[in-house]
Amino acid sequence: MSFQNPVFIPGPTNMPEAIRQACYMPTIDHRSPLFGKILHPVLDGVRKVLKSKDAHTFVFPSTGTGGWETALSNCLNAGDKVLAARNGMFSHRWIDMCQRHGLDVQVVETTWGHGLPAAEYETILKADKNHDIKVVLATHNETATGVKSDIAAVRRALGAANHPAMLFVDGVSSIGSMDFRMDEWGVDVAVTGSQKGFMLPAGLAIVGFSDKAMAATETATLPRTFFDVKDMQKGYDNNAFPYTPPVGLMNGLKLALEMIEDEGLENVFARHTRIATGVRHAVNAWGLELCAASPDVYSDTVSAIKTPDGFNATDIVTVAAEKYGMAFGVGLGEVAGKVFRIGHLGSLTDAMMLSGLGVAEMVMVDLGLDVKLGSGVAAAQEFYRHGS
Ligand SMILES: *Cc1c(COP(=O)(O)O)cnc(C)c1O
Repeated sequence: MSFQNPVFIPGPTNMPEAIRQACYMPTIDHRSPLFGKILHPVLDGVRKVLKSKDAHTFVFPSTGTGGWETALSNCLNAGDKVLAARNGMFSHRWIDMCQRHGLDVQVVETTWGHGLPAAEYETILKADKNHDIKVVLATHNETATGVKSDIAAVRRALGAANHPAMLFVDGVSSIGSMDFRMDEWGVDVAVTGSQKGFMLPAGLAIVGFSDKAMAATETATLPRTFFDVKDMQKGYDNNAFPYTPPVGLMNGLKLALEMIEDEGLENVFARHTRIATGVRHAVNAWGLELCAASPDVYSDTVSAIKTPDGFNATDIVTVAAEKYGMAFGVGLGEVAGKVFRIGHLGSLTDAMMLSGLGVAEMVMVDLGLDVKLGSGVAAAQEFYRHGS
C-alpha cells in the first residue's frame, strides 16, 4: 500500500503538516467560550474567502454533498421548480439530489467539456413569466471535466430576465483556490467542503447564505433537522453546535484560513493559475487535449486529459498507483475511460507539480502512448522558470 504524497487527485488534497497537527488536539468543552475562539474566526475567515461582507456562514459535520442538501432543504418546498444544467458528474449529482427531494428540475443538457449555458438560462428565465423557477443551480468548477463556468454571466442572465430566482453555486473544487465573489455575483448559497481548497481531511460542509436565502428559510417546508441553518445559528450564538462539533477539524480549518490569509487570497489564486498553466503546457507537449473545450473554461484546479480513441485512460491511473505509488483521478460518468484527471489544488508548489507530470509521462510511455519522456516536464519547467 502506498501513502506517497503528493497526491494528484482533485480532492482530498495534500495536507500541510501544520494543518494535520492542528486537527490533532486534546478534548475541550465544545459548549464553551474556548470553542468560540475556534468557531468565530472560522466563520469570519470563510466569509472573507467567499468575498462577502455579511454572508451567514455555516460549517456542518458533513461533506460538500451535505452542503448541497443544506442549500436545498433550508430554502425550498417540495414541487418547487429548479433550473440546472448537466455538464458533468457533479452537476448531475446535484440534479439527482433535487429530484430525490421532490423538486421539479428543468435540466439543460450541456455537452461535457462545456461551461454552463448562461444564454440558454436567460431565454428560459425570460419565458418564465410567472416566476415559477425558485432557484438556479450553478456548478462553478465541474471537477469531472476540468471546466470552470462564468457565474457572473449566470447572474447577468437572471438580471436580464429581471427574475427573482435565487442563485445556488457549488464551489466545492473552486472556493479557496480560484476567485469566487459571492457578493459581486449575487450568490445566494455558496457550497464547499473541507478537503479541496482548504487542505483538510473530508468531514466539513462549508456554506454561505445571503440575506435572501436566510429569508427563504422562514417559509421553506422541505424537512431538515441535522442541516437546519437556524438551529445552527442558535448554536453559534452560544459558542456551540446543536450537536457535537468536530472540534479538531474546525481547529484545522481555522489554521487553513490563516494560512490562506497569510499567503494572500489573490496570491493563492495566482499560484493555482501558474501551476495549472504549467500542466496545460505539459499536456500540449504530450500532444494530448483537455476535455475542457476552450481556454475560457480551463479550470485552475483540475485538468481532465483526453487519451486517444481505443485507449483506456483508467489504465494510467491504475499503473501510476501500482508501479509508482502516485494517485491521479479517473474519468467519471460519461467520460470514464476517456480521460484521466490531474488535480492541482490546495497545498501545492511548482516543484511538487513537476513530480506528478514526470510520473504521468513515465506511465504513458509504459502503456505505449506516443509521448516523449521529459517533454511535458520540460514544457512546464520552462514556464515555471519564468514565474508567471
Ligand atoms: C468534490 C465535489 C463535490 C462533492 O463533495 P463531497 O465532499 O465529496 O461530498 C461536489 N461538487 C464538486 C464540484 C466537487 O468537486
